[in-house]
Amino acid sequence: MKIKKRRNVKSNMFLNIVLCSVFLLLFLLFLFVPKIYLKGDSKVTVNINSKYEDKGIETNFLNEKEKKKIKIINNVNTSKKGTYEIKYIYKNNLYTYEVKRTIIVKDLSAPEIILNGNKTEYYCPNGKYEEAGYKAYDNVDGDITDKVEVTKDKDKIVYKVKDSSNNKSVVTRNLKEKDDEKPTITLNGSTTVFLPLNESYVEEGATATDNCDSEITNNIDITNNIDTSKVGDYEVKYKVKDKGNNESLITRKVKVRKDLEPNTIYLTFDDGPRDGTTDVILDVLKEKGVKATFFVTNNGSDELIKRIVDEGHSIGIHTASHKYDIIYASVDNYFNDLELVKQRIYNLTGVETNLIRFPGGSSNTISRKYSEGIMSTLTEEVMNRGYQYYDWNIESGDSSFAMNERKLYNSVTSSLSHDKYNVILMHDTKTYTRDALSAIIDYAYSNGYKFSAITSNDMLIRQKVNN
Ligand code: ZN
Repeated sequence: MKIKKRRNVKSNMFLNIVLCSVFLLLFLLFLFVPKIYLKGDSKVTVNINSKYEDKGIETNFLNEKEKKKIKIINNVNTSKKGTYEIKYIYKNNLYTYEVKRTIIVKDLSAPEIILNGNKTEYYCPNGKYEEAGYKAYDNVDGDITDKVEVTKDKDKIVYKVKDSSNNKSVVTRNLKEKDDEKPTITLNGSTTVFLPLNESYVEEGATATDNCDSEITNNIDITNNIDTSKVGDYEVKYKVKDKGNNESLITRKVKVRKDLEPNTIYLTFDDGPRDGTTDVILDVLKEKGVKATFFVTNNGSDELIKRIVDEGHSIGIHTASHKYDIIYASVDNYFNDLELVKQRIYNLTGVETNLIRFPGGSSNTISRKYSEGIMSTLTEEVMNRGYQYYDWNIESGDSSFAMNERKLYNSVTSSLSHDKYNVILMHDTKTYTRDALSAIIDYAYSNGYKFSAITSNDMLIRQKVNN
């Protein structure tokens, strides 16, 4: 009994060992059987119309040849909402192995609301905000502007929209009551006005506009410090405030100047200086005790410029180049040219003259060839820049080719008047002007005329502007 029992125990143990071994073998076999696994999750949600790239699979114990046998079934269509599957199938003689992934295509994108205007809009106090407009677009539904819900309160507007997949968008526009824009004042008439001494000043007024206030011109407050009985520079102030308390102020310059004297001759010489003529003219003027006015160029010797000033004559600016096609081509050209002569005079004499004479006079029409309307602009602009321009009321004719000393004498002496001022245009570059001058002065003196030079206290002499 004892022996038999021992034998049974022995055979049971053997059986157990065999069974265990078989299981172990099967387990090892299973471990080493070729397998495929999904990379990444088995369920993936994808936005519609986006590109989907599957992460693929990993394999175990498959050589390259076997890997090629893996079949892929993929019918994912990302342009259409729905649930799709991607299958990877491996098949050999013994078994079939399959893994699959679920792909859900959904509309995940919210619509976009685009505001015209600004994120923060300002509107006038007591005014109304005018909607600047908006648009709404969705990746699936397209233009859904008409689906936008707009709610408005005092300080904001909220724009809400939902697409067909219930994706929502909200955009807010802030509203602020504000008026920090100043009114704009526009003067009627010229910014710079020359007024003859003792003549009353006529206010031409101004108009005002404002971004918020509709009627504001009547609120303009006009004050001035003009004393028409005294030569001087004055100002008219135009002030206006809008309801938002924004104030604007502009000024008009009023220059009171004395009229040139009647029975007086103002000899004015253009185009010089020129050696050989200007020097002689200066000698004659000195000898006769006459003061004249020279509108100079960049020609001639510096010495003559100094003499003009040293000997008590008035000096003004004519032009540096005297080339109409250059100086009248643009406002900048004109002032660049002017500045050259101004600097020359200043450098040589220390005089900062503001007297000018336009080449061809302010009434010239030749400038139209180079720039339409330029004289209208220049005649205003020179005044705004502090210059005073002087045309003439007697043309000596000395720039004419047919002129000679005798004719010039006759032309000038026959044009003189005791009742008015006599501003005579002459050219100190001309020999017959040089030669006739002494006799002209003698004639004038013996007929009771006086001579004077133009100064910046004198009223402008203006011809009619034709361009
Ligand atoms: Zn000239």
